[in-house]
Amino acid sequence: MNVWIIAEHKADIITDGTLEAIGTGRLISNKLNAKLFIVVLGYELFVLSKNLSNAGADNVYLLETPLLSQYTSDAYIGSLFPLIKQHQPSVILIPSTCNGRDLAPKLAAKLKTAYASDASKIDIDREIFFTRPAYGGRLLSTVTCRGEKPWIITLRPRAFGKFAGASKIAKIEKHAIDISSSSIRTMIKGFERTQKGVGLTEADIIISGGRGMKKAENFKMLEELAKILGGVVGASGAAVDAGWMPHSAQVGQTGKVVSPKLYIACGISGAPQHLAGMSTSKCIVAINKDPDAPIFKVADYGIAGDLFEVLPILIEELKR
Ligand SMILES: Cc1cc2nc3c(=O)[nH]c(=O)nc-3n(C[C@H](O)[C@H](O)[C@H](O)COP(=O)(O)OP(=O)(O)OC[C@H]3O[C@@H](n4cnc5c(N)ncnc54)[C@H](O)[C@@H]3O)c2cc1C
Repeated sequence: MNVWIIAEHKADIITDGTLEAIGTGRLISNKLNAKLFIVVLGYELFVLSKNLSNAGADNVYLLETPLLSQYTSDAYIGSLFPLIKQHQPSVILIPSTCNGRDLAPKLAAKLKTAYASDASKIDIDREIFFTRPAYGGRLLSTVTCRGEKPWIITLRPRAFGKFAGASKIAKIEKHAIDISSSSIRTMIKGFERTQKGVGLTEADIIISGGRGMKKAENFKMLEELAKILGGVVGASGAAVDAGWMPHSAQVGQTGKVVSPKLYIACGISGAPQHLAGMSTSKCIVAINKDPDAPIFKVADYGIAGDLFEVLPILIEELKR
């Protein structure tokens, strides 16, 4: 009846999404009277394992080999599958990041067990209920899993509180891994950074522009506003399709799913595909000249006006 978290980490630090998963895992494990395990895959995990000892779990499993030094679904599944079969956890929580969204369904398929994606709320009664946005965030559906365990659940970033740390020290166990390099079919050979600073999914403040921005140069206004507020610039699908912003900046169904503290939508109508990526933002401000634009239905604050008049005033006021 144990609950597992598959941890994500960068430079010996576990990610915020993992801390949120630990907080949620702790709630579930307390309710089910179960133990909470953090499973960490990677290479040279010594420093990280020390950081994890008081992260809130009962046990930490370390799976360490050079073949896990970067994420590949083959190496991760090859390492996790025998461990899961041996220890039979009930629930596995995975942050809903690029890698998590790749891993979770493949792992569930390999195990032939249930998978619920992108949970933004969890309720535990006699069953566990996962609430997730559906139809582009226009409704919230509640799902529960059935059949063989473990159930694999991905958690929407920033929808859950982070675990603050524990006085309890987790037992750290290293597990041998039996995978070969020939079993890894796809590997990343290199990275090229296309965005400076914080990425969209980690940003606390996002200023997004849509078709209403009219042309690429006008995004400079959004960059200026983002600089003043300490945020990053995002875009709607229409702005990306027009070539004004790179696809890496797209928010929505086929872009990034974000939940910042503040989301300012400028000249964005609020199509369901856009709302799917940002409707769980803590505070939404919309600037749109059409007072009937659907974005105002999800906005906490709306400015019905021409963004070319509103934005310069906002920038001047914020500068002051
Ligand atoms: C399969 C699929 C996947 C998709 N995935 C995504 C996705 O991931 N993300 C996404 O965003 N879209 C996505 N789309 C596209 C989506 O359906 C919409 O077409 C898109 O979101 C519209 O972008 P927009 O709001 O910028 O443009 P529009 O809908 O054209 O809205 C522009 C808005 O700007 C306002 N405006 C114009 N001028 C001004 C001004 N001067 N001042 C203030 N307001 C002004 C207008 O009133 C209007 O509301 C997808 C579509 C499909 C079919």
